[in-house]
Amino acid sequence: MDAKQRARERFEEIEQDLRDLSRWMYEHPEIAYEERETSARLAAFLADRGFEVEHPAYGLETAFAARTGSSGPEVVICAEMDALPTVGHACGHNVIATAALGAGVALASLTEELGFRVTVLGTPAEEKIGGKVDLIEAGAFEGAAASMMIHPAPESVVDPMVLAVHHLIVEFRGKDAHAAAAPWEGRNALDAFVQMYNAVSMLRQHFKPTDKMHCIITHGGDAPNIIPSYTRSEWYVRADTKARLEELMDRFRAIVDAAASATGCTAEIGAEGYEYSDLISDPLMVDLFLENAAALGRTMNRAEDSDEGAAGSTDMGNVSHVVPAIHPMIGMDTQGAVNHQPEFAAHTITPDGEQAMRDGALAMAWTVIDLAAGGRWGELGAGQE
Ligand SMILES: [Zn+2]
Ligand SMILES: [Zn+2]
Repeated sequence: MDAKQRARERFEEIEQDLRDLSRWMYEHPEIAYEERETSARLAAFLADRGFEVEHPAYGLETAFAARTGSSGPEVVICAEMDALPTVGHACGHNVIATAALGAGVALASLTEELGFRVTVLGTPAEEKIGGKVDLIEAGAFEGAAASMMIHPAPESVVDPMVLAVHHLIVEFRGKDAHAAAAPWEGRNALDAFVQMYNAVSMLRQHFKPTDKMHCIITHGGDAPNIIPSYTRSEWYVRADTKARLEELMDRFRAIVDAAASATGCTAEIGAEGYEYSDLISDPLMVDLFLENAAALGRTMNRAEDSDEGAAGSTDMGNVSHVVPAIHPMIGMDTQGAVNHQPEFAAHTITPDGEQAMRDGALAMAWTVIDLAAGGRWGELGAGQE
């Protein structure tokens, strides 16, 4: 029996367990860097199936590294596992994590025969902060030949556009005063925020389709009868390249300064978490994944043929700048629901969501088999700078 067939059979032996685990994650969402129970279950799943497991790993409480294979090039399969506040697993990281486990287990029995190593890396905090940046800095990807993961989405796109992003905090400080009896004594930090918000809205006319600025306000004042002396908002600024992102940041900073100046306030721009890079999809792995998905009955679009415009951002982008990587989007027929909606979360545990997990796991495993059996490791990295 050929290696791909054996990988598929091994996967099928654990497929129901993976579905159960995906459902458990759906029912028990844990947000960035709080994935304690989730990471413990994922790590235990792999330990029970013969992996050598380190948990916690790389100095992060909720990261784990599950390794198998004794020699040869190392493939790091990323298992994202964090949920979103209020909407649970609306980004489908339960599908990502279980697909990563499935690919890892499917490949485990082939590592000696084909001469490679697999690490399933539990990567926390993708939705916020950027756990993979912490993991890169701690050496989790050092020496790896390739890294991969899949992500559920409304459409199957093998090499999605992923935007670079800055996660920012903007604070304006003014002066308190009685809002009716002595407003002239105050300096209104909420006015500064509104000025800024409006200026960004006007700037949008001049955006490229891949430029994004969006925010929430997390502190708008304390009482209607006090002129707000402090406001705080959280912003994401995104662009298709790091260079374009820096151009946008110049405009962003100018807007913040202007709003502060106009309202007699002071402004401070801080960062929360790491900057995420754009994604470099490795051309060889893209081709192999596309063929393997097709062999599984799944048609994948290339980004250039995709209906969807720009996607979001991911810390897998940062990984792709240090290791040849892919991050294919696996489509689900979500009836119009998109990532970060509760309906999307609910879809991950339907048969269609389970199919996405299966196809993602097997297409990753088969891509690794092609690299190993074909001796193609040396061809990786053609897309790196
Ligand atoms: Zn997300
Ligand atoms: Zn996601």
